[in-house]
Amino acid sequence: MKVRTRFAPSPTGNLHIGSIRTALYSWLFARHHNGKFILRIEDTDLSRSESISINSIVNGLKWLGLDWDEGPYFQTQRLHRYKEVINIMLEKGDAYICVCSCEKLEEVRLKQIEKGYKPRYPGTCRNLKIINMLNQNYVIRFKNPLSGKVVFQDKIRGEISFDNSELDDLIIQRSNGMPTYNFCVVVDDLDMKITHVIRGEDHINNTPRQINILKSLDFKIPIYAHLSMILDEEGHKISKRKNAINILEYCKNGFLPEALLNYIIRLGWSCGDKEIFNISEMKELFNLKSIGKSSSTVNIKKLLWMNKYYINNLPLNYIANLLKNYMKKQNINIKNGPDLESLVKLFRSRYHTLKEITESCRYFYEEFNFFNKTAVEQYFTIQNCCILEECYERMKKLFIWDNFNISIIINDISQHIKITKKEINMILRVSITGNIHSPSISSVIDLIGKDKTLLRIKKAINYIKNL
Ligand code: GLU
Repeated sequence: MKVRTRFAPSPTGNLHIGSIRTALYSWLFARHHNGKFILRIEDTDLSRSESISINSIVNGLKWLGLDWDEGPYFQTQRLHRYKEVINIMLEKGDAYICVCSCEKLEEVRLKQIEKGYKPRYPGTCRNLKIINMLNQNYVIRFKNPLSGKVVFQDKIRGEISFDNSELDDLIIQRSNGMPTYNFCVVVDDLDMKITHVIRGEDHINNTPRQINILKSLDFKIPIYAHLSMILDEEGHKISKRKNAINILEYCKNGFLPEALLNYIIRLGWSCGDKEIFNISEMKELFNLKSIGKSSSTVNIKKLLWMNKYYINNLPLNYIANLLKNYMKKQNINIKNGPDLESLVKLFRSRYHTLKEITESCRYFYEEFNFFNKTAVEQYFTIQNCCILEECYERMKKLFIWDNFNISIIINDISQHIKITKKEINMILRVSITGNIHSPSISSVIDLIGKDKTLLRIKKAINYIKNL
């Protein structure tokens, strides 16, 4: 059997961590088995579907490298097919026309609730032969079996069973002619030859209805795996409409796809104590057996840790290239500063995201207009102005501009003037970066280059003199 999985989001909101986990597990399962991964957009709910969400889905998957072999299929482009299947079902007597008015159904529903019953369609039109529907509002319902059970083996939860008596006759075509979600899913899974349905646990209740429709169409039932919930840091279920963060926001905030995928795979799946998985390991090791049943909680600290790990462990040129693209988006002209590989080498152990790196190294590429206020109070004294002048003179004469020679100058001055190296480093740091934090200042000075260094020391001297 050739494995075929699908990711079938409804475009009613942004792609978030929970939906990406569903996509990732389905993708990995297909890749692990050399199967096919299909992307399907379930957009039959016209009032809630938005093209902006479709973009978020497609771009989010592309950014993460979750490539699909077929699709994206759009359900709204398959309406003729749903119609065809509905006609077959009507003919076979597995579906029927229902002309019950909303008011009537509401009345029944309230009565059922009043009597303590679970509200369900009472089956009024189930056995009527309605032929003339002209000028009538009608829906089409599936004739669900009245007795027996629907039993399926969920790959994560084991056996799940529902009594048919609990399921009512589901609407498969609305009064506006649009087929409904549960029906389209079945036809699509059937046409797309889906072998494994991996999706959120919120669909468990839909599964027996879908299985019954599949059975009526004589289709082999796929294998189901329903994933447990993901909760946000406050313990709330992640919901598209409330607290979901668009996956592309992580890209904007300087997270790496490798880190995000590694973080997400561990939200519910494990392989011993192993935490770090590159993509090939994920494909090799992923299985449905090791997915846990309990819900998982998002932990941003862990994600940051993971991102830092990848920033520090992926090849330098790869990170430099990601940083280049990131900085371009922030309108930083990278031609105005040092080459990015050297910069990454100097900065990567200090930061968690490309955003943090970018924000802390702007001074390499752009002039800054302000010095940190407390640093000015502490370090920009007349006495220190002489030290800067000394640095300026010595550095101006420096022939071989490198970390080693710059450190020697700082050392010499420290010995001559009897001031600690640490102090000189800070005075230079504030002058050259405008701030009190940076990697080793001699490395920064080395990278920033002679012209810019001298210019900035001069700028600081003038600033102090004007105080
Ligand atoms: N369209 C459904 C959703 O976005 C998923 C349906 C399915 O996977 O069967 O929740």
